[in-house]
Amino acid sequence: MPFVITDPCIETKDTACVDVCPVDCIHPRKDEAEFAAMNMLYIHPEECIDCGACVPACPVAAIYDSHDSTPSTQKDLIEANTIYRNGDADAMARAEAIVAAHVAAHPELMAIPGKERAAAHS
Ligand code: SF4
Ligand code: SF4
Repeated sequence: MPFVITDPCIETKDTACVDVCPVDCIHPRKDEAEFAAMNMLYIHPEECIDCGACVPACPVAAIYDSHDSTPSTQKDLIEANTIYRNGDADAMARAEAIVAAHVAAHPELMAIPGKERAAAHS
Protein backbone atom coordinates (compact mmCIF):
# COMPACT_ATOMS: atom_id res chain seq x y z
CA MET A 1 0.00 0.00 0.00
CA PRO A 2 1.53 3.35 -0.98
CA PHE A 3 2.83 6.03 1.32
CA VAL A 4 0.78 9.23 1.65
CA ILE A 5 1.82 12.87 2.04
CA THR A 6 -0.44 14.92 4.31
CA ASP A 7 -1.00 18.48 5.43
CA PRO A 8 2.24 19.38 7.24
CA CYS A 9 3.73 19.44 3.74
CA ILE A 10 1.46 22.30 2.74
CA GLU A 11 3.76 25.27 2.25
CA THR A 12 6.70 23.35 3.82
CA LYS A 13 7.58 21.70 0.50
CA ASP A 14 11.28 21.38 1.29
CA THR A 15 11.61 18.30 -0.99
CA ALA A 16 13.76 16.36 1.50
CA CYS A 17 11.65 13.30 0.62
CA VAL A 18 12.36 13.74 -3.09
CA ASP A 19 16.08 13.60 -2.41
CA VAL A 20 15.89 10.17 -0.78
CA CYS A 21 13.21 8.49 -2.89
CA PRO A 22 14.90 5.78 -4.98
CA VAL A 23 12.21 5.67 -7.66
CA ASP A 24 11.44 9.38 -8.21
CA CYS A 25 7.75 8.92 -7.41
CA ILE A 26 7.30 12.18 -5.44
CA HIS A 27 6.29 15.27 -7.39
CA PRO A 28 6.59 18.04 -8.21
CA ARG A 29 10.36 18.23 -7.76
CA LYS A 30 12.00 21.64 -7.37
CA ASP A 31 13.33 21.37 -10.92
CA GLU A 32 9.87 20.84 -12.37
CA ALA A 33 7.88 23.82 -13.63
CA GLU A 34 4.85 22.79 -11.60
CA PHE A 35 6.65 23.16 -8.25
CA ALA A 36 5.89 26.81 -7.52
CA ALA A 37 2.16 26.49 -8.13
CA MET A 38 1.49 23.39 -6.04
CA ASN A 39 0.66 23.70 -2.36
CA MET A 40 2.22 20.36 -1.42
CA LEU A 41 3.93 17.33 -2.89
CA TYR A 42 2.30 14.02 -3.81
CA ILE A 43 3.38 10.38 -3.92
CA HIS A 44 2.44 8.42 -7.04
CA PRO A 45 0.69 5.37 -5.55
CA GLU A 46 1.62 2.93 -8.30
CA GLU A 47 5.27 3.96 -8.48
CA CYS A 48 5.95 3.98 -4.71
CA ILE A 49 7.76 0.78 -3.70
CA ASP A 50 7.06 1.19 0.03
CA CYS A 51 10.75 1.47 0.91
CA GLY A 52 10.11 3.87 3.79
CA ALA A 53 13.06 6.18 3.10
CA CYS A 54 10.93 9.31 2.88
CA VAL A 55 9.39 9.04 6.36
CA PRO A 56 12.46 9.85 8.49
CA ALA A 57 13.60 12.40 5.89
CA CYS A 58 10.50 14.55 6.32
CA PRO A 59 11.17 17.30 8.89
CA VAL A 60 7.48 17.76 9.63
CA ALA A 61 6.30 14.12 9.81
CA ALA A 62 3.91 14.62 6.90
CA ILE A 63 4.24 11.11 5.44
CA TYR A 64 2.25 8.05 6.53
CA ASP A 65 3.18 4.53 5.50
CA SER A 66 -0.23 3.35 4.31
CA HIS A 67 -3.82 4.36 3.75
CA ASP A 68 -4.76 2.57 6.96
CA SER A 69 -2.25 4.47 9.08
CA THR A 70 -3.27 7.85 7.64
CA PRO A 71 -5.24 9.67 10.37
CA SER A 72 -8.93 10.34 9.83
CA THR A 73 -8.40 14.09 9.42
CA GLN A 74 -5.97 13.33 6.58
CA LYS A 75 -7.88 10.62 4.70
CA ASP A 76 -9.12 13.14 2.10
CA LEU A 77 -5.53 13.70 1.05
CA ILE A 78 -5.13 10.03 0.08
CA GLU A 79 -7.23 10.82 -2.98
CA ALA A 80 -5.12 13.89 -3.74
CA ASN A 81 -1.97 11.73 -3.75
CA THR A 82 -3.76 9.12 -5.83
CA ILE A 83 -4.95 11.38 -8.63
CA TYR A 84 -2.02 13.82 -8.90
CA ARG A 85 -0.04 13.43 -12.10
CA ASN A 86 2.71 15.95 -12.68
CA GLY A 87 2.21 17.75 -15.97
CA ASP A 88 -1.44 16.68 -16.33
CA ALA A 89 -3.26 19.97 -15.77
CA ASP A 90 -6.61 18.36 -15.00
CA ALA A 91 -5.17 15.86 -12.52
CA MET A 92 -3.10 18.56 -10.85
CA ALA A 93 -6.11 20.86 -10.54
CA ARG A 94 -8.23 18.09 -9.05
CA ALA A 95 -5.56 17.20 -6.50
CA GLU A 96 -5.04 20.82 -5.54
CA ALA A 97 -8.83 21.32 -5.22
CA ILE A 98 -8.85 18.52 -2.64
CA VAL A 99 -6.03 20.24 -0.81
CA ALA A 100 -7.88 23.58 -0.90
CA ALA A 101 -11.01 21.90 0.49
CA HIS A 102 -8.90 20.24 3.18
CA VAL A 103 -7.42 23.59 4.20
CA ALA A 104 -10.88 25.17 4.33
CA ALA A 105 -12.26 22.28 6.38
CA HIS A 106 -9.45 22.24 8.94
CA PRO A 107 -8.70 25.78 10.13
CA GLU A 108 -7.71 24.31 13.50
CA LEU A 109 -4.90 22.32 11.89
CA MET A 110 -3.82 25.09 9.56
CA ALA A 111 -3.43 27.42 12.54
CA ILE A 112 -0.70 25.11 13.86
CA PRO A 113 2.84 25.57 12.49
CA GLY A 114 3.77 22.84 10.03
CA LYS A 115 6.42 21.34 12.31
CA GLU A 116 3.85 20.75 15.07
CA ARG A 117 0.84 19.91 12.93
CA ALA A 118 1.36 16.16 12.67
CA ALA A 119 1.19 15.86 16.45
CA ALA A 120 -2.36 17.21 16.22
CA HIS A 121 -3.48 14.69 13.60
CA SER A 122 -6.33 12.48 14.72
S1 SF4 B 1 8.21 4.91 0.49
FE1 SF4 B 1 10.11 4.93 -0.77
S2 SF4 B 1 9.38 4.72 -2.86
FE2 SF4 B 1 7.60 5.35 -1.65
S3 SF4 B 1 7.60 7.59 -1.78
FE3 SF4 B 1 8.75 7.06 0.07
S4 SF4 B 1 10.89 7.03 -0.60
FE4 SF4 B 1 9.62 6.92 -2.47
S1 SF4 C 1 9.94 16.01 3.17
FE1 SF4 C 1 7.88 16.29 4.03
S2 SF4 C 1 7.49 18.52 4.01
FE2 SF4 C 1 9.26 18.09 2.70
S3 SF4 C 1 8.36 17.96 0.67
FE3 SF4 C 1 8.47 15.87 1.46
S4 SF4 C 1 6.50 15.48 2.46
FE4 SF4 C 1 6.69 17.70 2.11
